[in-house]
This record gives sequence, structure tokens and C-alpha cells, in this order.
Amino acid sequence: TIITRFAPSPTGYLHLGGARTALFNWLYARHHGGKVMLRIEDTDQKRSTQDAIDKIIDSLDWLGLDFDGDTVFQSERAERHAEVANILLANGHAYRCYATPEELEAMRAEQRANKQPMRYDGRWRDREPGAEQEGAPFTVRLKVPKDGETAIDDAVQGRVTVKNEEVDDYILLRADGTPTYMLAVVVDDHDMGVTHVIRGDDHLNNAFRQLPIYRAMDAIEGGWPDPVYAHVPLIHGSDGAKLSKRHGAVGVEAYRDELGILPESLFNYLLRLGWGHGDREEITQAEAIELFDLDGVGRSPARFDIKKLQNLNGHYIREADDTRLAQLVAQELSGEVDGEIDRDLLARAMPVLKTRAKDLHELADNARFLFVSRPLTMTEKATALLDDEARARLAEVHGALTEQNDWTIEALEATTKSLAERLELGLGKLAQPLRAALTGTTTSPGIFDVLALLGKEESLARIAAQAV
Ligand code: GLU
Repeated sequence: TIITRFAPSPTGYLHLGGARTALFNWLYARHHGGKVMLRIEDTDQKRSTQDAIDKIIDSLDWLGLDFDGDTVFQSERAERHAEVANILLANGHAYRCYATPEELEAMRAEQRANKQPMRYDGRWRDREPGAEQEGAPFTVRLKVPKDGETAIDDAVQGRVTVKNEEVDDYILLRADGTPTYMLAVVVDDHDMGVTHVIRGDDHLNNAFRQLPIYRAMDAIEGGWPDPVYAHVPLIHGSDGAKLSKRHGAVGVEAYRDELGILPESLFNYLLRLGWGHGDREEITQAEAIELFDLDGVGRSPARFDIKKLQNLNGHYIREADDTRLAQLVAQELSGEVDGEIDRDLLARAMPVLKTRAKDLHELADNARFLFVSRPLTMTEKATALLDDEARARLAEVHGALTEQNDWTIEALEATTKSLAERLELGLGKLAQPLRAALTGTTTSPGIFDVLALLGKEESLARIAAQAV
């Protein structure tokens, strides 16, 4: 079976690139009926925090990405990593390096001066420690084959070849016996049975350093086949540079909390960012599972476009269940309106509120008038609109609607229209001050929808407050 994994380093929030990597791993496994696992790469204890772990897991959960099996914490597996390093050492695929930090610094300084690539020169590769190394600290380095070249048939990048002499004998175990990240990734991927490594193409070079461990361990004990690699191009900003903070929000939680994006919108958008199926823009989770495969992943970096995300979000808001939207909007409004928020009213209002909203903040803005208390705070435009003439017209409306018992949209419309005719006014001359009085603003859903949603008592009270 196919096993993929998402392996974030918990040093901050889940950024969009990481979320997309998680998504591709998740979809590939779900499409093929395999498994997708979560591994927290918390070996850098100084930079890893519990808060970051919680946030990453929370964001993945919010996006609807679930994982199979228990979460693996890399830091808990240091002994196993060291065990593999020692197997490599015992079998001549790794060696002890006694070079001191000062020596290595001198080596690099010389390489820098000679404009040579800076890489460990293999000075302990074929050297036996002498008496002066007795009890001295050492690192364990991988003995990377130096002849020929290594080719990877990457599922996204195609065939990529690197000369083996360009791969350095890097450190597996530090002088204090702790494993390096490079070793840990390979051992964990093997032990978790990972068959497909799908990740950002900033890790492509690492693949050429990681493969020699698989090959050496396979030669020693068998059962360490190469994984399939798929290195996905990074996400770029609208200016073509790698996506970073200066392009705006890069954390998934900011899209939820600050930008009012629904999870299915971000899911769909991240999917389309780097993967395509014809020119389909709107793809649900179920369709994505059916359609996703690695051959649809593009080789060039995709550009992040907030407008496209917002358009998709508008689409998913219109599609979303009204009770769910009411719940989300009630959360948005809970801090700023006094009193209980009537969720049923909010849900009933949703069909007229959501038609134009691109995010949950706009949706909350559209809904606010339902819950504000009297006297309403007026926008500048609304105040300007309510001149003496307009207030006099409101008194006429108040009179007509007081007689109104059938408070349906149709009946309200009929009454208001016949009043406009009797006063020889365009309907707008009544509707505009009415909107200002009922909502405190000059934009709102249809005015008869507003009346119907507020109900007779509240509507008349708001009108009376502005009428003369
Ligand atoms: N922990 C690495 C990262 O967050 C990913 C390593 C991998 O996927 O092999 O960039």
C-alpha cells in the first residue's frame, strides 16, 4: 500500500506552502486508498514549541486533513536514529571523523579563499584513529559513494541527476551522539513504511543526500527500497518571488481568523495552486480525492492570488449551510453587539445576506443591522440622507405600516408601493430613508427583506426613532 507523510518542523504556524504539501500527501493517499501519516520534526529543541505543534495540528484539522495512525514525534526516536548510524558504521558505510571545529573552520576558510564549493573534504574517510584520538570526541559521517552519479525519477520534476562527488560525507551523529535531521528523516520514513515522499522542491537536494542511506541499509539488511520522490515547486507571491511575510498573511490560521476564509475554500484554492484538472476551478474535497494524482502537479511555481481565493470563498459561502454560517457569524459578532444573538434569525436571514459576501467579515457586516440596539448608530451617509423631507416621508411610511398585519415580503412591498404612488414619489424616495432608519447604513439586502427579518415591532420602533 501507498504510505505518505506530512513532516512539519514545529517552529511556527502552518504556512500555506506546508498546508499545500500536507494536502497533496493527504490527497495522494486518499486517492490511492493508502495511508497518510503525521510526523512532527521536533529535533531542533530550541526552535520547536508545543504552541507551534498545537497550532499546526489545529490548522490541519480545520482544513479537514486527518491522519492515519499515531502522530510520530521525531525527538522521541533519537535512540533508533543512533542505532541505524551505528549499523552503518559497523558495516563500513559510515566512519568516525575526529576533525575539530577549528580544523573544519580552517578547511572552509581555505575553500572560500580558493572559491571552491564548501564541503567536507573527507579527511577521515579512509583514516584510522591514532593514539591521540583516544577518548577524543568524534562525529559519525556517512561514507557517500564518490563514483558515478545518482538519478532520481521524480514524480513531479522528472529525471534529475547529480554527480556523486558533489554529495558530501555529511554528519549522521554529532559529537554528543545526537542524530542529525538528515539521518532522522530517512530512518523515520523507512520505519513508518513511507513509500512516497511528497514535499517542497527546496528539499530536492536533500534527496540526493538521503538516498545513500537507503541504499547502504538496503545492502546491509535489505528491506530499504528507495521511496518515490515528488518535489513540488514552491508557492510564489504575485511578484514572482518566493511567498513570504511581505506578501501578506502566510499562516493558515490568519486565513481563518483574520481573513474570514472557509476551510473548503482554502482547501480548494491550495489544491488548484500547483495542481490542475483542465480548467476546473471549483473542486470539492470528494471530487479532489477522485481526481488527484501526481501527474497533474505542475513543474513551475504557482503564484498566490488572494482575489482568486476570495472569489472561491464567495462561492463556498453561497454553497454553505445557513445554520453553519449563522454559527460562524454569531461568533464574529458576539464581541460587539450587546445581548443574545438570535441564531435562528441569523440562519433565516442568511440567504439574503450571503449573496455578495466574499468572506465571513463581510457576511458579519451584512448581518450586523439585525442585532444592533436602538438608537442606531448612523453612518455619515445615512445621516446625510435623513434630512427633514426624508423624515417626513418616514412618518408616512410609519403610518402605513402600522396598519399592516400581513408582514410578508410581498405584502410589505405592495403597501410601500401604493404609498409611493399616493405620494407621487419614486419608490427609492421611500426605500432610501427606510434603509437608513432600519439599518443605520445605506447598503443592505433588499428593503422588504430587511423589514420582514426585523419584524413589525422592531421595524416600527426603528422607523419612529427617525420619523418626524
Ligand atoms: N521538516 C521538513 C520541513 O518542514 C520536511 C522534511 C521532509 O518533508 O522530508 O521542511
